[in-house]
Amino acid sequence: MEPKKEKSSTESETPAAKNAIAKKAEQLEQQIKKLRMELEQKTSSKEKKTPAPSKKEEKKTKTPSKKEEKKIKEELEKEENKTYEEELEEQLTDEEIQNFQIEKMDMEKLTNKVCDIVAKYQTDGMLQSELWKKLKLTSRDGSRLALKLERLGIISREKILEKGRWTYKLIIKRTPVSTESIENAPCLTCPVEQKCSLEGEISPLTCQLIEDWVLIEITKPKK
Ligand code: SF4
Repeated sequence: MEPKKEKSSTESETPAAKNAIAKKAEQLEQQIKKLRMELEQKTSSKEKKTPAPSKKEEKKTKTPSKKEEKKIKEELEKEENKTYEEELEEQLTDEEIQNFQIEKMDMEKLTNKVCDIVAKYQTDGMLQSELWKKLKLTSRDGSRLALKLERLGIISREKILEKGRWTYKLIIKRTPVSTESIENAPCLTCPVEQKCSLEGEISPLTCQLIEDWVLIEITKPKK
């Protein structure tokens, strides 16, 4: 036997009940509309409360603070007092500074000369312009040489104001080791160098070759 088909809820509702539901739906729709309008009004009034900044206020925010003004002033002064060497340091790479060469000039000899002269001024240092004059160098080459020697740790440079102009004082830091002083040493080609030691049978303390070489070296005129 087939099961009895049940009536759906709408089918079972009377016309009066259907009317009541339609009315309720209409009321709900109106309520939603009202709420929407209220919400729109609230958001538009909030936007009005935060007005756009006036031109005066905009100008006020763009004006730099005292701290910023001081910083700008310092940067301007720094730019005005910039030395030729500082400009070179900005333009050249470390490699370019360290590999600087002056055409047709023995750079090792020149470095030794610089050290000899600057070392005489000890910790007081000397004005770089005086040094360039003594070595007959242009300030272009001299400034590059000073940067190179500073990078090699041979001299230090101190920025000073001299007669209203910024320049540098050069101070010796260390003297470079010159290979020239040992280039004729007999030990470099000695056949028994491996067996030679201070306490051994073969020793520089008793070596005739060394004695002869030292005697020749100390009687050589200084370059
Ligand atoms: S000191 Fe004399 S023996 Fe020793 S390595 Fe030098 S030359 Fe040779």
